[in-house]
Amino acid sequence: MNPYEVLGVNRSASAEDIKKAYRTAAMKNHPDRNPGDHQAEERFKRVARAYEVLSDPSRRDTYDRYGTTEDPGSAAGMGGMHDIFSGFGLDDALRAFMENFGFSAGGSGSRVVQGEDITVKVNLDLEEAALGGSREIEVEKNTVCSECSGTGADKASGSESCRHCNGMGKVSSIRNTLLGSFRTVTQCHVCGGRGTIPKKLCSNCRGRGFEKRKSTIAVDLPAGLSEGHYIRLRGQGHHPGQGGVPGDLKLFINEIDYGPFRREGDNLVYSLTISYPQAVLGGEFSVPLPDGDSLQIKVGSGTGAGVRIKQKHHGMGRLNRRGRGDLFVEIDIHVPDKVKRSEKELLKKLEESPSFKIKRK
Ligand SMILES: [Zn+2]
Ligand SMILES: [Zn+2]
Repeated sequence: MNPYEVLGVNRSASAEDIKKAYRTAAMKNHPDRNPGDHQAEERFKRVARAYEVLSDPSRRDTYDRYGTTEDPGSAAGMGGMHDIFSGFGLDDALRAFMENFGFSAGGSGSRVVQGEDITVKVNLDLEEAALGGSREIEVEKNTVCSECSGTGADKASGSESCRHCNGMGKVSSIRNTLLGSFRTVTQCHVCGGRGTIPKKLCSNCRGRGFEKRKSTIAVDLPAGLSEGHYIRLRGQGHHPGQGGVPGDLKLFINEIDYGPFRREGDNLVYSLTISYPQAVLGGEFSVPLPDGDSLQIKVGSGTGAGVRIKQKHHGMGRLNRRGRGDLFVEIDIHVPDKVKRSEKELLKKLEESPSFKIKRK
């Protein structure tokens, strides 16, 4: 299912049409109008999510191009592994509905706190970029406090129930909107949604719920990455503590060492220098491959400078797709800048030979 299908609009629909379709579908499936109907709740969530993507021009554009709203180079964006509808809860949908058609949905404290992202720059060698691989990344990050398990409360003293929300963590109220009255649920701002308040703060984290720790994270590198791409590892960033969710770890592909190759999209170009007699007579040559192996190739007789010999499927892996690009062996001819007298005589003779004459019109 894509967001256009969910809202029942076509790809060229205007912002106005999209909003209308969302309004109709959201009203029909709103949980307040369909109590206990889980299918309606699911539909409500999906239309809210679809509207969230399509009402934002840049996300809509990204979706139209890549079929996802992730960075095109991120791991989540690859191979359709990330469904745009996953990880979108009923609270998100209700909040979005209120923001779109009601008044402001309770402002601060209504969203789950998310920790900060961590960006790590990595350099790749050609084999990793071409064929993929794995890396172990070491980061120092805010991790759930080992003493209080992130609650921020001193374990011995414990916590007490939050009086503001009666320990529910959420406060519900009725809101009047242009479309009628709806129940909204917002996170309790006193306890931050936990339902409890510590009697005494944890001494290890001073109540923050997190501590700095080194961790090693294994990352799979897909084949075909380019400089400037990101790989996003969800939930591997800093933890904000106290019931929040961690941010992401973003791997930034900084530099790729292509060695003796040049990259042209998914293809690689290797420049093979041969001698002038070899260009005339042809021969066999060894060329390196991106995985460190080498390949024997035949250069036919009478091959000129600049000719490209294609070696299928020896190029870069294709990001998000199967298969590999090609390796082009580009012929370069070595011209000596100094020759011996005897060689000069040979060349003079060649120059006069009929096969070496250039016929000009
Ligand atoms: Zn603690
Ligand atoms: Zn509370």
